[in-house]
Amino acid sequence: MAKADYYEQLGVDRSASAAELKSAYRKLAKQYHPDVNPGDASAEQKFKDISEAYDVLKDDQSRGAYDQFGHAAFEQGGGPGGFGGFGGQAGQGGFSGFGDIGDIFEEFFGGRSTGMGGGMGGARGGGRGGQRRARRGDDLRTEVDITLQEAFDGTERQVNLTRAAACASCNGSGAKPGTQPTTCTLCQGHGKVRTQQGFFTVERPCHQCQGSGQMIGDPCGDCRGGGQTSEARNLSVSIPAGVEDGTRIRLSGEGNAGPNGAAYGDLYVFVNIAPHATLRRDGADLLCAMPVPFDIAVRGGSVNVPLMAGKSVKLSIPAGARSGQQFRLRGKGMPVLRSRNYGDLYVQIEVETPTGLTRQQKKHFDAFADSLDDTNYPDMAAFIERSKKS
Ligand SMILES: [Zn+2]
Ligand SMILES: [Zn+2]
Repeated sequence: MAKADYYEQLGVDRSASAAELKSAYRKLAKQYHPDVNPGDASAEQKFKDISEAYDVLKDDQSRGAYDQFGHAAFEQGGGPGGFGGFGGQAGQGGFSGFGDIGDIFEEFFGGRSTGMGGGMGGARGGGRGGQRRARRGDDLRTEVDITLQEAFDGTERQVNLTRAAACASCNGSGAKPGTQPTTCTLCQGHGKVRTQQGFFTVERPCHQCQGSGQMIGDPCGDCRGGGQTSEARNLSVSIPAGVEDGTRIRLSGEGNAGPNGAAYGDLYVFVNIAPHATLRRDGADLLCAMPVPFDIAVRGGSVNVPLMAGKSVKLSIPAGARSGQQFRLRGKGMPVLRSRNYGDLYVQIEVETPTGLTRQQKKHFDAFADSLDDTNYPDMAAFIERSKKS
């Protein structure tokens, strides 16, 4: 079928100025807009035709090409491959590219909902015929703070949040109960339309349906046609033993509702573990820097290393232990997530020098110190030797 001349479609002269084109298009667009002619297929076709015509003629470059080559100038862009990109890949977190929606139309329709009819010719889209990709709802995130003890034992937390839920009255459709949304007349439910800009084909979200592919004739009173209401949720989140700081727990389907009754997004709960007063964590291992009495370090002995929840573990210190020495206690660390294993506890000792000695204690110590010589302090003796050689 031969295409009608673009100038004829808009009812303007070939020499029409940009302003004349715009005004002619505007007048016709209002007259044939599907909103004003519901169910009128010929008006719809006319609206598409004039939109296509105006899309080409409003741009100097494409108008020049059209003047020179006629419709042939744009046939390439409508060939196979157009529209190939959408339809699949649900669950990828929604599509992007809403940025410039309506940039052309809003400027002269003052933001009124209208259509972009141009370039519908190539709607082949891999045979998905009218099937629009369901746009999943947004994911939500929240945080919970727990103690190291709770990370050790596993715990539960209540999470309160407000999310967008599918409107209960209309099941998220946005259409008044008893009525149904209709397939968008402009994009045939695809949610996207192609427009020709010069020699390029640009795919944009459909402006008439805001990319949803559906039109609401009679909006639901409870959600005003949006299909969503806000819902307060109180969820119990189970936090497993061995959870690490920053762990993300996914609650499937607890995010925001998708548009038009599409699937819910997920909720991600991020777990923050508060620092412990004496224990530091490294994966499944625990680290503890602990002061050890001087006399125990000298003679050897044992100390109790405090753990969580009032528990402790006995650590044997060999005679002659030094500050900075590290001891490992196997299996005394954190539980390993989803396992029966435990990490280890590393205790780094810090030998504490006694202070505040009484006269009596000092006397004892004097006697003891007098009995010591270089053999008791081999490091000190070696150090002095080295210093003499330099
Ligand atoms: Zn549409
Ligand atoms: Zn509703």
